[in-house]
Amino acid sequence: MIAVIDEAPDAVTLRLRLSEATGFLPGQYYNVRLEAPGRPRPVQRAYSVGSSPVPDPSLIDLGIREVPGGLLSPLLVNLRAGERLPVRGPYGRFTWDGRDGGPVLLVGAGSGMVPLMSMVRHAAQRGRSDPVVLVCSAITYSHAFYRDELAALAARHPWLRVVHCITRDPAEPRAHYHRRVDTTVLAESLEGDHPRAAYLCGPPAMVESVAAALVGLGVAPEAIEKEKYD
Ligand SMILES: Cc1cc2nc3c(=O)[nH]c(=O)nc-3n(C[C@H](O)[C@H](O)[C@H](O)COP(=O)(O)OP(=O)(O)OC[C@H]3O[C@@H](n4cnc5c(N)ncnc54)[C@H](O)[C@@H]3O)c2cc1C
Repeated sequence: MIAVIDEAPDAVTLRLRLSEATGFLPGQYYNVRLEAPGRPRPVQRAYSVGSSPVPDPSLIDLGIREVPGGLLSPLLVNLRAGERLPVRGPYGRFTWDGRDGGPVLLVGAGSGMVPLMSMVRHAAQRGRSDPVVLVCSAITYSHAFYRDELAALAARHPWLRVVHCITRDPAEPRAHYHRRVDTTVLAESLEGDHPRAAYLCGPPAMVESVAAALVGLGVAPEAIEKEKYD
């Protein structure tokens, strides 16, 4: 591991240099294995890549949010640069390579933003021009992963629109909505358009409720890709 970057009060990015770079697609994840106290064997959990495979696929950023009472995530957020972290991958079919027309809708809650950020960073590097609407849900603005980089990307790239839903800070001025992602948030964020594809990532209940809202707005179920962080 070459760096640990603070991402939010309860989250870090672990930047790893892989000894063997097999390449990965934006949206994929790696399995992390670590000894955990009281466990006879190493414990394994999945963590998505937040960085783009371009220009260097041997460098991967894993975004980790601490789950209170969890086995692995509290250990991971306390790792230090220089420590070794065994990973295996990449895995997963929740991928988007930045191609095809728009609009493309990305909806992430909490650490569910991680694979979506890989997609956005990759799309920016590919020189995308078709619209991407990214809806981010977080409890407070400072818990929103990648908030400063997303603001800078949206200012630089007219194709990117970032919408923040802040659920537990009614006074937050940078929020577009002070509630969870719902049908109205989606319809207004898409400005009446139908997304060509939608990528939803986060807690299972959030992913299912957003998918149902999109279907209610007339989006074909086949156009909706889901990654649930069970
Ligand atoms: C494909 C995929 C990609 C993912 N990507 C990311 C990512 O990019 N970033 C990220 O932060 N997470 C990601 N996750 C989630 C991640 O894999 C872990 O599930 C998460 O970090 C929690 O792991 P943990 O070991 O800390 O918690 P666990 O030990 O698995 O515990 C999870 C919860 O269950 C509770 N619990 C545990 N044991 C018990 C018990 N016996 N009784 C009652 N409650 C119990 C804990 O208190 C905790 O609240 C991803 C998941 C998937 C499936």
